[in-house]
Amino acid sequence: MHAEDVPLPLIAQEVGTPVYVYSRATLERHAQVFRDGLNDVPDKLIAFAVKANPNLAVLKVLQSQGYGADVVSVGEMRRALAAGIAPEKVVFSGVGKTRAELIAGLEAGIGQFNIESEEEGLELAEVARELGLEAQCTLRINPDVDAGTHDKISTGKADNKFGVPISQAGQIFGKLASEGGVNLRGVAVHIGSQLGDLAPLENAFNKLGELVSALRGAGHTITHVDLGGGLGVPYKQGETPPSPAEYGAMVARVTADWGVKLIFEPGRVIAGNAGVLLTRVVRVKRGVKDPFVIVDAAMNDLARPALYGAYHDFTAVEPNGRDMTANIVGPICETGDTFAMGRLCDHLEAGDLAVFRTAGAYGATMASSYNSRGFVAEVLVDGDKYAVVADRIDAGAIMDAERVPEWLA
Ligand SMILES: *Cc1c(COP(=O)(O)O)cnc(C)c1O
Repeated sequence: MHAEDVPLPLIAQEVGTPVYVYSRATLERHAQVFRDGLNDVPDKLIAFAVKANPNLAVLKVLQSQGYGADVVSVGEMRRALAAGIAPEKVVFSGVGKTRAELIAGLEAGIGQFNIESEEEGLELAEVARELGLEAQCTLRINPDVDAGTHDKISTGKADNKFGVPISQAGQIFGKLASEGGVNLRGVAVHIGSQLGDLAPLENAFNKLGELVSALRGAGHTITHVDLGGGLGVPYKQGETPPSPAEYGAMVARVTADWGVKLIFEPGRVIAGNAGVLLTRVVRVKRGVKDPFVIVDAAMNDLARPALYGAYHDFTAVEPNGRDMTANIVGPICETGDTFAMGRLCDHLEAGDLAVFRTAGAYGATMASSYNSRGFVAEVLVDGDKYAVVADRIDAGAIMDAERVPEWLA
């Protein structure tokens, strides 16, 4: 098995495992396919959701594709700017932006703040006035639609923490629009992630369209609407989430007469299938029923199965033609550190290499050092060459940042 033209065993040998391996060609292809899907949307900004994969080299690839960045912390903002993304193309989302983050965004001159509450809007206005600046803003709306995805990644139901309730949107918009320091020029929505169906998105966008009309009717000037991200990717063979072309056609139809600039915040659909997690089998342990294939990657490296019960395809790097039914687990001392139970997969033995597929989004970015395992390395492949784009941070380096106070010594 290769990543582009680079054999995965070579990367395993030279960089060690576990390691994330990303493909530049795939990232570029996904960026182009998503943009092509939106050909019928005349005025737009595509801002990659940095939280899906914040690696600097990945951001650089997308910057070269003309992408902006959707960020949810000052750390992500700094990464986007460091990757050369113009501040005007940076959108700052998130329910808990601190005062320091609002100041940092204003001083960097970012293109858009997505305000998530009246309270945040008032604070942003005050801070901007103090700095003698004006924040370009949209108000994020919670449209109260069920995205039909996993509960932990649904963001557009009334009891989720995101945005302002659509029933109060007109009143809050009116209040914030009259504040100095903010130019409230539109609305935003993001209803969830890994959506397998366009219907909830279309429903949310229609509600947003009605709100835009109502706001204009109340005398507001609306020039920008942010439609968020959320398009799903296939994790399992046979899964067929809507394509960027189908998504784009729906968006073009629903928004045809809005007369605004549209902002998109795709994450997973760009990066998900552009990466794998390469791992080595530590040993195979007999079970009562199926054997346990214990790999050197764990829930601290790839959290999605433990967090959401997520499925990742698992295949041998050098299949021997046989298969087995096995439980795929990591070394961490938690039963949650299980990638799959009773999975029919390639036959594997101690020392063999395997990959978890579709690991380019919400993979390395969610890594932790639980069990003092250190942080996983990342590699970017480009044709027949590759580079380590994030060093492995070993447990010793993390321990070096800790101190035992003198009064304990
Ligand atoms: C997470 C997130 C996204 C990206 O979601 P994907 O499902 O990865 O496309 C976009 N916008 C906001 C505000 C988010 O929180």
